[in-house]
Amino acid sequence: MSRYMSSRFDHLEEYVPGEQPRDMQYVKLNTNESPFPPSKEVLKALSPEEASRLNLYPDPTAKGLKERLAKRYGFEAENIFVSNGSDDILNFAFMAFCDDSCGVTYPKISYGFYEVYAALYSLDAREVPLKEDFSIDISDYFNVGRTVVIANPNAPTGLLLSKEDIRKILDSNRDNVVLIDEAYIDFGGESCVELVHEYDNLLVVRTFSKSRCLAGARLGFAIAQKGLISDLEKIKFSTNPYNINRLSLLAGEAAIDSDSYYTERAKDIISAREYTVAELKKRNFTMTDSYANFIFAKHEDVSGNDLYLELKARGVLVRHFSKAEIADYNRITIGTKEQMTALINAVDDILEKKGCAK
Ligand code: PMP
Repeated sequence: MSRYMSSRFDHLEEYVPGEQPRDMQYVKLNTNESPFPPSKEVLKALSPEEASRLNLYPDPTAKGLKERLAKRYGFEAENIFVSNGSDDILNFAFMAFCDDSCGVTYPKISYGFYEVYAALYSLDAREVPLKEDFSIDISDYFNVGRTVVIANPNAPTGLLLSKEDIRKILDSNRDNVVLIDEAYIDFGGESCVELVHEYDNLLVVRTFSKSRCLAGARLGFAIAQKGLISDLEKIKFSTNPYNINRLSLLAGEAAIDSDSYYTERAKDIISAREYTVAELKKRNFTMTDSYANFIFAKHEDVSGNDLYLELKARGVLVRHFSKAEIADYNRITIGTKEQMTALINAVDDILEKKGCAK
């Protein structure tokens, strides 16, 4: 930190993204990306002709993309906000809906960026422990008098709350925003997006990075009643009006136009997840019941960190978190069936070398 940096950031610990080592070709199961390329319609939309227009600013209203998303999810364009990845939306939401008089609450074990944004804006943050089985006790979020942020499915556990559970949280927090981060909802969960019609305090945040195979394009969207959306627009137009580049806008539009491709890819992920869960259970792993494109697993005889290092040495990258409550576990992104077979083979080798019974 230089001597010029504002001291208000002294306490800030930045988010650490999953590692992207370049020393060898890894089976990369550590950042919850899709293993599949975008649809052919998306690839076609990213034409040299469109690239040649990069001298021009993109549409700051993102009209075409918003209209498509509105149609796809049964809303109007005014109910849609789009941004440079859903991280950007989370950032705007923390800026817009939290302050000195309104703190924030979220599960203690959840997406690591929530605590970073809370620190960035010096918020009074209440981090609520999960239950012993890693599930969320919804009553912890009743009448909290602060902004509620919950990832559903949660990360890194993959556990899902039902739409009715979310309704209960909304009912008891009518004077506060409830942000439901549905980054992983397309892998078997039920979205709460329909509740937007009933609740003006619900903000549903989604991403193109996971089920829509566009992590590299940086595209996220949110659905809410017009009031919350116009608040986010105000923040966006006060920070970076051109927050989505021309090519990403086109990629997003073409992705919505080729929705069936992504539905099929999500099914592929779900079936690779079922395969992986079954194989790991045979090898004495325990796992949470994940509804996401990752699983959260531990072995009874091999520590979380050890397994992470041994897998890495065999060219398989998974994500290990050092927080004490989850240090026994690894978060393993679900890739293709071939990638998951490579994981299982590496696990077999590790267990054999360690003399663990299969
Ligand atoms: N929410 C959750 C729960 C996540 O795990 C992630 C990223 N891994 C994001 C939001 C951000 O995704 P993106 O910025 O790529 O849309």
